Amino acid sequence: MQHNLARGPAKGGIRYHPSTDLDEVKALAMWMTWKCAVVGIPYGGAKGGVAVDPKRLSEAELERLTRRYASEIQIIIGPEKDIPAPDMGTDARIMAWIMDTYSMNQGYVVPGVVTGKPISVGGTRGRVDATGRGILYIAQEACRARGISLEGATVAVQGFGNVGSNAARLLRSQGCRLVAVSDVSGGVYNPKGLEWHELQSIIKEQGLSLSQAKGDFDHISNAELLELPVDILVPAALENQITARNAPRVRAKIIIEGANGPTTPEADLILHEKNVFVVPDILANAGGVVVSYFEWVQDLQSFFWEEEEVNLRLKRIMTRSFDEVYTLATREGVSMREAAYMLALRREEEALRYRGIFP
Ligand code: NAD
Repeated sequence: MQHNLARGPAKGGIRYHPSTDLDEVKALAMWMTWKCAVVGIPYGGAKGGVAVDPKRLSEAELERLTRRYASEIQIIIGPEKDIPAPDMGTDARIMAWIMDTYSMNQGYVVPGVVTGKPISVGGTRGRVDATGRGILYIAQEACRARGISLEGATVAVQGFGNVGSNAARLLRSQGCRLVAVSDVSGGVYNPKGLEWHELQSIIKEQGLSLSQAKGDFDHISNAELLELPVDILVPAALENQITARNAPRVRAKIIIEGANGPTTPEADLILHEKNVFVVPDILANAGGVVVSYFEWVQDLQSFFWEEEEVNLRLKRIMTRSFDEVYTLATREGVSMREAAYMLALRREEEALRYRGIFP
């Protein structure tokens, strides 16, 4: 599904999930349009989906499904047309199969047809922690805007997957006090601070969930984590986590939306009234698509960057985008979310107006 192509080729992930459907894919495609516009990268929005539970397929079945799907969408994707990437249920290996299927049908290697590939077939350095790193850069700016020192700031992170665990690690590395994290099973809390490496080893090496973990911390529920008195709260798991029911009890000063759609519109109004500084998803978690853009640029040039260069360029884009949204929000007296949408829509409208309609 391609939502808008006014600002460039379409960009968005491919989702393998049993409950995905056309409505979900349409909404996600539109989200990508605004996300790319707000950080000023030259793409429109797209999304793809297959209603399947990939965990129930063998590797051979997963490969056959992916190659058949890639063949079906072959006529609408391409480095100049639509560049898919991983989303829920898809990963670097699946992107490599899509790249290979497309390349075989073209008769030559086309690495720029998808992003999120393994580095050995044209992936970029810095992609794995890009979204978490983007959250760090946003946190630096949000703290500055709110007059809070990042060093020593208390942080709670909901979700300890790709986004949440990398955000937690990087915030910790900059001197934040990581007081709580959670996964689907529940959370752990220590107001004096948690050690990221300890948590990572519990999950990765011991294969335990956080509710089974033992250490210098208390166990809390996901609902309790969202209401902790912290400087920064990063919801990085699912949508609709902060609602009209729990928003009155949220005590965080800054919320940085790592997940897509973690705050409902009703909760947003309550948080705004409570003067909680909410950095919206389309800005806060755009680090992943920005580094996907870098991957595509590198593929087109066949010239690959060092990780420092990727991170430096990511920092520039995230910092500039935050400043643009913050300046607009301050000038117009609106929330960061309203300002982010205003900026994205203006960019979209300007592109459409300059292009006009042909024939
Ligand atoms: P992931 O699958 O790696 O991790 C998800 C984490 O959330 C896991 O720790 C899981 O245990 C936890 N979780 C699942 N259900 C939960 C629940 N009911 N309550 C609490 N925790 C729960 O996923 P991810 O890639 O880290 O993505 C997380 C969110 O960020 C999603 O909303 C995704 O759309 C969004 N996002 C991801 C990226 C990216 O680059 N990965 C980019 C932009 C946005």
